[in-house]
Amino acid sequence: MKDVRPLLIQSDFPRISRAELHTLQLNLGYRCNLSCVHCHVNAGPSRTEEMDSKTVNKILDLIDLISIQQIDLTGGAPELNPEFRRLVVELKARKIKIIDRCNLTILFEPGQEDLAAFLAANEVEIVASLPCYEEENVEQQRGKGVYQSSIEALLMLNSLGYGKGSILKLNLVYNPIGASLPPAQIMLQEQYKKSLFKNYGIVFNELLTITNMPINRYGAVLLAKGEFNNYMDLLRSSYNHENLDTVMCRNLISLDWKGDVYDCDFNQMLNLPIISHNQRTIDDLLKNPNLVGKSIATAEHCYGCTAGQGSSCGGALDN
Ligand code: SF4
Ligand code: SF4
Repeated sequence: MKDVRPLLIQSDFPRISRAELHTLQLNLGYRCNLSCVHCHVNAGPSRTEEMDSKTVNKILDLIDLISIQQIDLTGGAPELNPEFRRLVVELKARKIKIIDRCNLTILFEPGQEDLAAFLAANEVEIVASLPCYEEENVEQQRGKGVYQSSIEALLMLNSLGYGKGSILKLNLVYNPIGASLPPAQIMLQEQYKKSLFKNYGIVFNELLTITNMPINRYGAVLLAKGEFNNYMDLLRSSYNHENLDTVMCRNLISLDWKGDVYDCDFNQMLNLPIISHNQRTIDDLLKNPNLVGKSIATAEHCYGCTAGQGSSCGGALDN
């Protein structure tokens, strides 16, 4: 797979700095039961990197040291990490909002039969990928059988109370199949809601539209198809200055499975370290957790966050 990093590092993306931190995004490891085409993590069943209990303990220490509103658990499939459930229970005890980036199919993996009930019991918000409400598009991006399995998972989550109110939130994630920007989030949410309810009786809270990042597996696919430069031109020409104030890295940091610190999950995947030299690991942060006002490491892929309606792990920015 061709490395797109050298094509992204030189950039004229505007300088930005961090405001108050409210979200800690934790990548618990790169193992996943799927190997999606658009995956910016290169996650898959053969990846072995995963956060260990010592690092989880240090992260809990950090959370006790700083004021954090929410923890965003991602991967790979974060639920495959043996520390996942202990971490969730510890966070719940600290009354911190927990988000699980769930690929839905994980709920049917061997050993995960009680996962949905566990998530519900701990009031974990689920953010679940469903790149389309139609089967063909989902299978093109995520693999055969994924659509039906996702539908069954959504029905199971609904039966536990997910998607029906404000306590057990179930949000779905859309990302484009091709090299284009997502359509207007609100409009697409209406289509998803209508279609999933009409065909299956499925309900959910919100649809989050996310722009595909031209890095790792997706970046390599664009290169292989000869679409990389056109896609970058699209992101750059759709730059919307208003989104610069709300890009997610302003209020978030991302920690990888080793406890190394990055400005966001995308920078983590590009191995683009945080600029502040003495705050690059969880051990550093335990000594000096104040990141307010610190410059953020940006590169060409950052245009993916500011293009059009904007994009973040919480969906469109100008919604
Ligand atoms: S996109 Fe998500 S579900 Fe798909 S391989 Fe990557 S981590 Fe796994
Ligand atoms: S890619 Fe990361 S660093 Fe760049 S603007 Fe987006 S969130 Fe910020």
